[in-house]
Amino acid sequence: MSIVVQKFGGSSVANIERLKNVARRVVQEKKAGNNVVVVVSALGDTTDELVQKARAITPHPSEREMDVLLSTGEQISIALLAMAVQALGYDAVSFTGHQAGIVTDTSHTKAKIVDIKTDRMSQELERGKIVIVAGFQGSTVDHDTTTLGRGGSDLTAIALAAKLKAEKCEIFTDVEGIYTTNPRLVKEARKLAVISYEEMLEMAASGAQVMQLRAVEYARNYVVPIHVRSSFSDVPGTMIKGEETMLEKPIISGISYDTSQAKVTMLGVPDKPGIAAKVFSAIAQASVNIDTIIQNVSESGMTDISFTVESDDLPAAQAVVDGLVPALGAKGSLYDPDIATVSLVGAGMKTHPGVAAEMFGVLSKHKINIEMISTSPIKISCVIKKGQAETAVKELHKHFKLDKG
Ligand code: ADP
Ligand code: ASP
Ligand code: MG
Repeated sequence: MSIVVQKFGGSSVANIERLKNVARRVVQEKKAGNNVVVVVSALGDTTDELVQKARAITPHPSEREMDVLLSTGEQISIALLAMAVQALGYDAVSFTGHQAGIVTDTSHTKAKIVDIKTDRMSQELERGKIVIVAGFQGSTVDHDTTTLGRGGSDLTAIALAAKLKAEKCEIFTDVEGIYTTNPRLVKEARKLAVISYEEMLEMAASGAQVMQLRAVEYARNYVVPIHVRSSFSDVPGTMIKGEETMLEKPIISGISYDTSQAKVTMLGVPDKPGIAAKVFSAIAQASVNIDTIIQNVSESGMTDISFTVESDDLPAAQAVVDGLVPALGAKGSLYDPDIATVSLVGAGMKTHPGVAAEMFGVLSKHKINIEMISTSPIKISCVIKKGQAETAVKELHKHFKLDKG
């Protein structure tokens, strides 16, 4: 019997009615003759609420205790879903990440999966049970609870699908698939039938929260095709799979945006070898991730260095930079939390020059100033003012006729 992995996100189980709906969908898959492994997220906004509770106690909670706290959200979901499946007359068993054999490293709040011991899961599947696994969590070899980073239930599902050699991996969410841009912002956004791992990686990295970045990376590395679809309807969603299997490569597949970044600038930094290495190793030591970096042409031996970080990391970055300015003999620093990144993503860009110029033209037509630019072979990102992000996304979507396909 083949194995199917189905993952249901927080909004799909936001209340008891929805949870019962998930139970019905799961049972339907079982009735179709498959072994079913279900991965489920915490109900609705539970994880955010737990984060707020911790922050109300201390601004810097211990990461180990944070994992103990956050993992409780998914533990509620698995128990309730198992009960809902049992109430429909089917046998189900719930597993925490630890019980499911998900072994991770010790990097609390962003742990990496190092192994999955599937014996227990396989035994229960053989007994005909529907196995329900808590997403987003695992445990270290010392049995400490860990979590896999926000949105990490996607990763749990994909890692299980890879390990169990599942026939299908379905990610059920509150939209019908992957769209040309966030359908909640642009109502003309069009659902894509298919998108490559590479494009989805760029979309996820540049703000499209519909799939967790690390989950897409894992899927690409282990070649797990993913079907992203709605938990509220039966219509087909979007397949995420290898580019080589795609017949057509659109120039632009989608537009993503990220309003959760901030810009840091170091002014008048001495322009000599080793400075950038010093700056960015100090930033890395503070566990701050950097996205776009720009260094100006230097005049009179001085240069400006700007880079973007997650807004949550701005205080940590600021502390490092404020220390570096006098140490390096720089002139000063600027911090701007009011920025957004808007990105065009498409595999066809590799072979179509001129897309960047067109993008800049659209932004300039709408009086949107570009503060930073970064590119990859299949992405162009511009840093602009946060207040102009919505206009930028809508106008770019219209200009490139993404609603038309
Ligand atoms: P879940 O709770 O199921 O994990 P998420 O909230 O993580 O769901 O992701 C789904 C949301 O992602 C959608 O409600 C949508 O607003 C947002 N989103 C952003 N960009 C896109 C896109 N390009 N296509 C589809 N959804 C998108
Ligand atoms: N509940 C976790 C979060 O909100 C994991 C997930 O939903 O994928 O980030
Ligand atoms: Mg999600």
